[in-house]
Amino acid sequence: MNSTIIDNINTVRHRIKEACQKNGRDPQEVKLLLATKTVAAERIKIALQTGQTLIAENKVQELKEKYEDLKEIPHNNHFIGHLQTNKIKEILKYNVSCVHSIDRFDLAQKLHQRLTAENKTIDILIQVNTSYEESKYGAAPDQVIDLVRQISVFNTLHIKGLMTIGLLSAEADRVRKCFQLLKQIQQEIIRLDIPNVTMQELSMGMSGDLDIAIAEGATIVRVGTAIFGQRNTPDNYYWNENLME
Ligand SMILES: *Cc1c(COP(=O)(O)O)cnc(C)c1O
Repeated sequence: MNSTIIDNINTVRHRIKEACQKNGRDPQEVKLLLATKTVAAERIKIALQTGQTLIAENKVQELKEKYEDLKEIPHNNHFIGHLQTNKIKEILKYNVSCVHSIDRFDLAQKLHQRLTAENKTIDILIQVNTSYEESKYGAAPDQVIDLVRQISVFNTLHIKGLMTIGLLSAEADRVRKCFQLLKQIQQEIIRLDIPNVTMQELSMGMSGDLDIAIAEGATIVRVGTAIFGQRNTPDNYYWNENLME
């Protein structure tokens, strides 16, 4: 089991490198984030021991459960799941350094209030629903610029870029369109030169489509299945509002 995880990481690293080479990019520009939902701490540790440093959970509960076990190995925690405002306190407690899933003003405002009280700051990405699916979280593409402007006034939140899940489809062209849209919104925001907004990160691409995402400019790919194997819990448990709690 150990060797499987290690082999899989090497395979994913190789895919990243190849996608970069094909597209004239430096592999150093693309960070590999391990999406660890449903994965036991023991197995995450194997990945961290290979020198991986960036992991992310979707649920505060899982972050909490694995926190003590993972503490001994230095790593960086991001948060990629739907965040309820009543869980903000907890993600700060477990040292999350970047939240990829900011998709509404009230969430940003509450996060800012809490950070102010704790005298802390955090990196955030704005999650965009590039596939226009009702079942997916994320701000509507045509509302992202307004949202970024509104959130940019909160000095505890450093807006570093955008995140999307995109369409999960075997049709590469349709998947690619989602990533192109995210890149296009990023470029528009860069042109606006909004204070407190830097926009260097594009968090897009997962096990099935990271190659396309890198071709379209991804700087963070979020990979679960290709490293840890299939999950038993369906993803819409994490992604679809109607199935939540
Ligand atoms: C689970 C998850 C991933 C990883 O998906 P895989 O297909 O297993 O690589 C990436 N991003 C988010 C937001 C996820 O919930």
